[in-house]
Amino acid sequence: MAKTVIIEEPGGPEVLKVVDREVGEPGPGEIRIRHEACGLNYIDVYQRTGLYKMEMPHALGMEAAGIVEAVGEGVTHLAPGDRAAYASAPPGAYCEARVMPATQVCPLPEAISFEDGAAMMLQGMTVQYLFHRTTPLGPGDTVLFHAAAGGVGLIACQWAKSEGIRLIGTAGTDEKCRLAEEHGADTCINYRDADWVQKVNELTDGKGVQAVMDGVGKDTFMGSLDCLAPLGMMMSFGNASGPVPPFEIATLGAKGSLKITRPTLFTHIADHETCQEMARMLMEKVGSGAVKIRVDQRFPLDQVAEAHRALEARKTTGSTILTV
Ligand code: NDP
Repeated sequence: MAKTVIIEEPGGPEVLKVVDREVGEPGPGEIRIRHEACGLNYIDVYQRTGLYKMEMPHALGMEAAGIVEAVGEGVTHLAPGDRAAYASAPPGAYCEARVMPATQVCPLPEAISFEDGAAMMLQGMTVQYLFHRTTPLGPGDTVLFHAAAGGVGLIACQWAKSEGIRLIGTAGTDEKCRLAEEHGADTCINYRDADWVQKVNELTDGKGVQAVMDGVGKDTFMGSLDCLAPLGMMMSFGNASGPVPPFEIATLGAKGSLKITRPTLFTHIADHETCQEMARMLMEKVGSGAVKIRVDQRFPLDQVAEAHRALEARKTTGSTILTV
């Protein structure tokens, strides 16, 4: 049996329930893993509220790290006793142990703690694909990154620095801005009380940025288009402030042949080899010290509702984990 967080209907944090569940044996292509820590991500909020639809009842959580207990037929990249971490569908990572598909589960080197493993897989592989698999970016380029002091944000600040890319961040308080700058953002703008679009244009001498990485959505989307250089790429990868409203596609032409994508990590890691390769690159960044994972909040698994409240209230910085 394993403590597992489920929801029976969409709603506020109060719908999160901790139940005991039978874990069972892995079938072909599956593993059984016992978790040491689970990661908390904004996608968990979208699934809980019903913004992203799921069949009910459903377990929640997309990321964790722990020890492999058993492997099913055909699983060759992991063995019982291995340390492992993952960002993986289907949801169900908020638990002590589970049986799950092995495709997206990756070996975790000794040098990376279970906490960091649980905190970094989803947010870190997201940064990997934003910088390396979405549009060509390299030294001399400037990107604008919203919510730069958050989980994905602090990894992105350090990643950009390590690649020689200038990152202009935004965040909701001056303290958060300082944190982003300490982690490698060239400058961070408080987008609550500054004319951030004008500021970005000043910081780029009116030229604009080559790419915007926008996980905030509704509140920042249109302004972000005004920060892009001609032919720039808008990566709209999340909706923490609400979904982006419909807009005229001709706007992209009028603003300078802009490009736009609405990517999801799970498309990028659907293929086993690609997922393992992306994870290896992330682990190298962390192993080399170029990217340090910052776990700023820890909640016991049965206080998961408190963890969701803190994330939605913008009270968190860096990554958050659930301890088991
Ligand atoms: P964060 O730790 O970044 O938390 C979200 C942050 O968004 C808040 O701390 C807050 O920062 C900012 N924010 C702005 N407006 C609001 C609002 N109205 N309500 C709540 N927060 C707001 O979360 P994650 O690192 O987990 O994820 C960041 C974004 O990236 C999310 O949208 C997430 O869904 C997306 N994502 C997308 C992926 C993909 O592949 N498409 C994969 C991973 C993440 P501040 O106070 O500084 O404004």
